[in-house]
Amino acid sequence: MELLFEKSVAGRRTHYLPELDVPEAKALSAQYLREEKLDLPELSEIDVDRHYSELERRTYGVNNGVYMLGSCTMKYNPQLNEITSGLPGFTQAHPLAPEAHVQGSLEVFAKLESLLCDITGMDEMTFQPAAGAHGELTGLMMIKAYHESRGETQRTKILIPNAAHGTNPASMAMVGYELLPIPVDEDGFIKVDELRKITDDTVAGLMLTNPNTEGQFEKNISEVSKIVHEAGGLNYYDGANLNAIMGIVQPGKMGFDVIHLNLHKTFSTPHGGGGPGACGVGVKDILKDFLPTPHVVERNGSFEWNTPEKSIGNIVAFHGNFLNLVRAMSYVLMLGRDGIKRSAQNAVLNANYLRYHLKDTYTMSHDEICMHEFVMSLKQLKAETGVSALDIAKGLLDYGVHPPTMYFPLTIPEALMVEPTETESRQTLDTIIKAFKELHDLSCSDPEKLHNAPYTTVVRRPDEVEAARNPILKYEKSNAVEE
Ligand SMILES: *Cc1c(COP(=O)(O)O)cnc(C)c1O
Repeated sequence: MELLFEKSVAGRRTHYLPELDVPEAKALSAQYLREEKLDLPELSEIDVDRHYSELERRTYGVNNGVYMLGSCTMKYNPQLNEITSGLPGFTQAHPLAPEAHVQGSLEVFAKLESLLCDITGMDEMTFQPAAGAHGELTGLMMIKAYHESRGETQRTKILIPNAAHGTNPASMAMVGYELLPIPVDEDGFIKVDELRKITDDTVAGLMLTNPNTEGQFEKNISEVSKIVHEAGGLNYYDGANLNAIMGIVQPGKMGFDVIHLNLHKTFSTPHGGGGPGACGVGVKDILKDFLPTPHVVERNGSFEWNTPEKSIGNIVAFHGNFLNLVRAMSYVLMLGRDGIKRSAQNAVLNANYLRYHLKDTYTMSHDEICMHEFVMSLKQLKAETGVSALDIAKGLLDYGVHPPTMYFPLTIPEALMVEPTETESRQTLDTIIKAFKELHDLSCSDPEKLHNAPYTTVVRRPDEVEAARNPILKYEKSNAVEE
C-alpha cells in the first residue's frame, strides 16, 4: 500500500481557510523561520479519506471479530464510553484550570477511586500511570519509599515467579531491586515451604499475578502473603487482568498492599493501537502517604488537588489519561455491582467452555477448571507433525479469527494462551472451536499447508527474524523510491 508521501502530488490540497479579514500579524523574526520548505504530502481531502479508510479496512480489532489474546483482555469497549468521554466539559477541561472550574472532572477521579477501591479492597488509588508497566514502577517506588522511611535499606530483593509477565522483572530492575525467583511446582503453583525458607529481612516485597499466568488461582494465597508480611515485606498484586475476580474477591483481602489495574484491559478503555492506556494503582492505608502528587481529595463538599505527605512525586505530566478514566467510570457504573460480577463469571465461563471443548484435541497446561484464560502446549503436536504454535496461529487467520497469545508464558513450550473474555457469544465460541479442531486435523493430514498459512490475508508471513534483527524504524523517502 502506498504511503501518503508516495500519493502526494505537488500543488494538490484542500482549502478550507477563509479570506483573511483581520490585520496580518507581524512576521516572525528570521531566527524562527525554517530555510527550506517543510516536506509534507500534498493531497486532496478524498485522497486522505480513502487512505485512512483503506488502513481501517486492513486493520483487525475487536469490532471486526473475536480477539482471544491471552493476558490482554481484548474486550469490547462499549459505545457509551465514547459518548461520556466525548462530553465537552471533559474534553475541554484544561489541566491547569483552577479547581473551582473543574469540580466535575475532579469528581471523576474521586468517584472512580472509590469504585475501584471497592472492587479491589484497597484504601486509596492514583490514576497517574499511563499503562500497566508504568503502574508497576509507581507501586514499586512506593514500596521502596516505604522501606526507606523506616530505615530498612537492606531490603533489596523482590520475589517474582519465573512465569511472570515480562514487565514485572523489568519494573523491579528500574527501581533498583534484585530478583529473587519464587519457587513453583510443575503446575506453576507457589511452593509455600520453600518460599518461607528464602523470605528474610532482605526482601522488600513479593510481586504476583493472581490468577497466575497459566490461568489458575493461586491455592495458598493467604499463606503466601502472610509469609512476606511476617518477614516485613509488602505484597504487590499485578491486577492488569482482573477479569476473573472483579466483584467476586478483593486482592486487599488476600493480604496485598499495592495493586495496579489496567483500565485498558479489564475496564474497557481503548487498547493497543486503539488508544493510550490508563492505569490505577491502589494502596492500603500504610502506603497512602507515598502516593504520587497531586491526588484528589474531598474537603467540605468540594474537590481539591492534594500532595500526600511523603509523596514519591509526580510520575507523569499532569494527571494521567483522563478521558480513559471517564470511560472506565462509565463502564463500572453501567454494569453496577451485579453486572461487574456477572461479567467476571461470564469471562470465566467462556474460557472454560473453550477449554472443555478443546481439551481432547489439544494438550492443556492444566487439566482443571481455569479462570479467565488457559494455556495449551503444542509441544506434542509439533513433535508428531512438525506443526508449531506459530503455524496454528497463522492458520487461524484464514478463519478470520485473531490468534491467541503465542509463546507466553515462557515456561510452557509451544504455548498458546487463550482469553475469550465475556464479550463473546456461544455462537462465536463454537466457531473458534471448529477452527481449532479443523486446524488440528490439517496438521495431521497436510502439515506443509499449515507451514505456509495464512493464504487469505493482505500480509502473509512477515520475516519475523529479519524484523527483529534489522527493524526499519524510520521512513526514508529515498528507500521508498528505490523499492
Ligand atoms: C498487560 C500486562 C501488564 C503490562 O501492562 P501494559 O499496559 O502493557 O504496560 C503487566 N502484567 C500483566 C499480567 C499483564 O497482562
